[in-house]
Amino acid sequence: MTRKSSKEMFESATRVMPSGVTSPVRHFEPYPFFVKNAKGCHMWDVENRKFVDMCCGYGALLLGHRRKEIIKAVQKQIERGTLYCAPTVMETELATLISDRYTSVDKVRLVNTGGEATMTAIRLARGHTGRDKILKFEGCYHGAHDSVLVGAGSGAAHYGVPSSAGVPKGTSKNTLVVQYNDTQTAEEVITRNADTLACVIVEPVMANMGLVLPRRGFLKSLQKATKRIGAVLVFDEVVTGFRMASGGAQQYYGIKPDITTMAKALSNGFGIAAVGGKKSIMDDLAPGGPVYQASTFAGNPIATSAAIASIKTMNKINGTIHGRLQRYGESIAKAVDDIATAYSIPHVINQIGSMMQIFFTESRNIQNSSDALRCDKTKFQTMFKEMLKCRVFIAPSQFEVAFLSDAHNKEDISRVIDAYDNGLKAVKKMHG
Ligand code: PLP
Repeated sequence: MTRKSSKEMFESATRVMPSGVTSPVRHFEPYPFFVKNAKGCHMWDVENRKFVDMCCGYGALLLGHRRKEIIKAVQKQIERGTLYCAPTVMETELATLISDRYTSVDKVRLVNTGGEATMTAIRLARGHTGRDKILKFEGCYHGAHDSVLVGAGSGAAHYGVPSSAGVPKGTSKNTLVVQYNDTQTAEEVITRNADTLACVIVEPVMANMGLVLPRRGFLKSLQKATKRIGAVLVFDEVVTGFRMASGGAQQYYGIKPDITTMAKALSNGFGIAAVGGKKSIMDDLAPGGPVYQASTFAGNPIATSAAIASIKTMNKINGTIHGRLQRYGESIAKAVDDIATAYSIPHVINQIGSMMQIFFTESRNIQNSSDALRCDKTKFQTMFKEMLKCRVFIAPSQFEVAFLSDAHNKEDISRVIDAYDNGLKAVKKMHG
């Protein structure tokens, strides 16, 4: 049997799947590479090319691909069953591990995806307050459901559909949108909608419009303003949870939200997510409370065992992982900054811990989605394609983020820097 190339596989895929992919950002021109295998911080495609993975499952793989502790736990669980749809002691253990790490979390509901977590958080906030409106920030991405596909980042921004077709006007009219980091307007909108606003949902670090850091005081002001009007503050920590600090961005910035959503690094590559928060709000969930939420696969033993093993592994390396990844992140950002400066390419680099993005712009900083949208996306695509030729895979969009994992070592970091160098050289050559 002759082995098919990624190109041939993509042609077959497009015949049976819309655009040939199962999630929009996986598609890029002329065709994406098809993956055969992965280990640590490396992936191999069907043509046996080895890539350094700087996409890391869009942030999920904080511990790298196929982390041995997690694989072992999952293999053990497979022998005991894959789905019970009845309680297990593992669910309690996982909820306890989460609330031990997140001091804002008294109780946890396990769900399957980040989007399901934010959907549940929003419904819970609405049910708890008896109010309909929500406030989100332009460029923040909270999953692919109706209430939040308004002014959304990530693939929605990349493909120019920040407000998706198919979302009923009656739904989107209840979603108020303000620019990220615009503290004054956010406070005004919250005050103006004091009687109708159920929640403010925010990425504490916006990682779906490239990387955008919160200005000093921004998150704190949201906490104060929501408290003042009795609305719920939801931190969407689907990306930042476990990654920015053991207790997420809320620990990093010292702010306790009312509800937190987490996914990605919670299990390092399995389908599980969580909504956690204050007892008084969480107890409104069915069956004890009036807010309905349910799922066949929630708390399924495979993903739950992966999440338990992930948190236990992270607990073991807690003292070193975040510091080391911060140093690696800083060293890549500094090197890329120096290279782009040497090539006289106008740019901004935003980096925090294990997350980084470069923007091609004359601006001095990127503080919100309008700033990010003004950047030169074609230069980013040139850089991305050249880096891929150097066998370094970053997410194929200006509006995503480059991620590090515990599996990257110094050698990988220098390969990544070399690839950025080649990418930026190509930008200089093609775009001047
Ligand atoms: N929230 C944030 C901050 C995200 O980045 C994402 C996905 O990238 C989601 C929610 C949705 O998560 P999922 O893709 O698991 O539904």
